[in-house]
Amino acid sequence: MFPLKYEGDIYRPPSEARSLILQATVGCSHNRCTFCAMYKQKKYRERELEELKEEIHAAGRLWPQTRRVFLADGNALTMTTEKLRSILQHLDSAFPLLERVAVYANPQDLLQKEIAELAELRSLKLGMIYLGIESGSGSVLQAVRKGASPEEIARGSARVKKAGIPLSVTLINGLAGLEGTEEHARESARLLNEIDPDYLGLLSLMIIPGTSLYREIKAGRFTPLGPWDMIREIRLMVEHLSLSNCVFRANHASNYLPLKAVLSRDRESLLATLDALLKSKAPGILRSEHYRML
Ligand code: SF4
Repeated sequence: MFPLKYEGDIYRPPSEARSLILQATVGCSHNRCTFCAMYKQKKYRERELEELKEEIHAAGRLWPQTRRVFLADGNALTMTTEKLRSILQHLDSAFPLLERVAVYANPQDLLQKEIAELAELRSLKLGMIYLGIESGSGSVLQAVRKGASPEEIARGSARVKKAGIPLSVTLINGLAGLEGTEEHARESARLLNEIDPDYLGLLSLMIIPGTSLYREIKAGRFTPLGPWDMIREIRLMVEHLSLSNCVFRANHASNYLPLKAVLSRDRESLLATLDALLKSKAPGILRSEHYRML
């Protein structure tokens, strides 16, 4: 019998495609962002530790070769350090080859953990935190109701880095619409330069019916970027980036153009590629709207 229980749709970062997924929490504790519908059907709750322990050890008997685990849903790092410690210890004992556990986090989750707590979780194999920062602009973050300012995001991220946990941040291309595209690109680059993450993932905005953002568009208060405007925004952001050794990926199903680079090394060639594309605007290069998805 399949030992893991899943409630509703499960989301995970592309790089966790081969990880075992344990749904430690259900939904997102924030669940207010105007563009996001991922967890709208779920009321946030933590799953009982006893139930999780049973699932972990049953999965360990079935798949003892597991090396990576991802804790779903939207922000499992919001659990107390005590509960996370217990989950990590059980994972470590159930999977003898375990190398890394990863988790999504909200900026506020990071501010609720001291550096020493994060460092302890790291010693228990918490080896990657995926942080949705969405934008570096304070006004964009406020408009989308992210629940955190750029300063708070920078402070929370600094704790992760000081604790020695690899940090992967996600931005949303097109999140400020046509009205705010320049500010979104420049301010996002500024915040990223301050954070200096290990990984940067770029999603492209999808307009989901039923969300507040969808209603804003219908009311004429937000103008979505066209595909080439999206590429122009990426170009402007990359132009202003100066990161030490960040792996950049725009390989999500929502992206119009798959991109990857190590930003310290490939920044100039990435800019040249984007410039050439923007000049040619060759038909068929960008993913058609029909094939974009979350
Ligand atoms: S974007 Fe992230 S923080 Fe915002 S509602 Fe969705 S899952 Fe929650």
